Amino acid sequence: MGAREHVIELAQDLRQGFWACLARSARAGSELRQTDLFPDHRPPLDTDTKSVYGSSFGYHKGGCARIGSRASVLTPREIIDLLRQEYGELRWRPRSDAMSELVGTILSQNTSDTNSGRAFARLLVRFPTWESLLGADPTAIAEAIRVGGLAGVKAPRIKAIVEEVWARLGSFDLSFLAKMPLEEAKAWLRSLPGVGPKTAACVLLFALGRPALPVDTHVHRVAKRLGLVPPRVGAADAHELLEGMLAPDEVYPFHMSLIKHGRRICKAQRPLCPQCVLAHGCPSAVL
Ligand code: SF4
Repeated sequence: MGAREHVIELAQDLRQGFWACLARSARAGSELRQTDLFPDHRPPLDTDTKSVYGSSFGYHKGGCARIGSRASVLTPREIIDLLRQEYGELRWRPRSDAMSELVGTILSQNTSDTNSGRAFARLLVRFPTWESLLGADPTAIAEAIRVGGLAGVKAPRIKAIVEEVWARLGSFDLSFLAKMPLEEAKAWLRSLPGVGPKTAACVLLFALGRPALPVDTHVHRVAKRLGLVPPRVGAADAHELLEGMLAPDEVYPFHMSLIKHGRRICKAQRPLCPQCVLAHGCPSAVL
């Protein structure tokens, strides 16, 4: 890692670590407050990160031939505002009910939206109600969803989830998660078989409008390139980190705009940095 990357990571770690710590404490109902940690200082702001990065980079400028010396670290708010100019206003509206979102998200793993949509439609043709999946033969479920890929993995997972939800609730109505404290709702979903942080966040955000951030491959990649997530932090750990940086009303537009940007501009193999509206503030820009 070069000196410049090290400075960026250090500044980000300091700020993110601070806010993640406070967010965790608040969620846990702890009495810990900023004034307990740093009684003589106000909380660090995004501008402080930029200041640390900017002054440190001043000692190192000229060392990064491919990246301009005006590079800075954008705040999540700035990223959302810039991407809004590209992709328009992204407002939340319910995509489906929570149980459908849960099964649909399992089907969407490691496949395209088109194929997972087809798999979901065929599942509903073969099993028109969630009740009809109770006790179903996994082979028959796998056959129905084969077009979505990994049917041998997804079929028993869907069956196990459906049966567990039924065992717990005696219904498939997950709307109670809309009112449950956010961390409890996440924990409830994550305790279902095969449900990880991304699937839980998808259900809470897309079906119920809760401020839970799904971190998929696009969100993770773009956030890392923008310096919001340190290089060694994986997607699973990035959920809490990124979510802790966002106000509740920023979660949906942040998720949606980073996905659009990751698909169209900040591609995995060859990011189109010269066309990117974030390039002036992106530590990874190649111009
Ligand atoms: S496309 Fe380039 S400049 Fe834009 S966010 Fe990705 S790496 Fe940064």
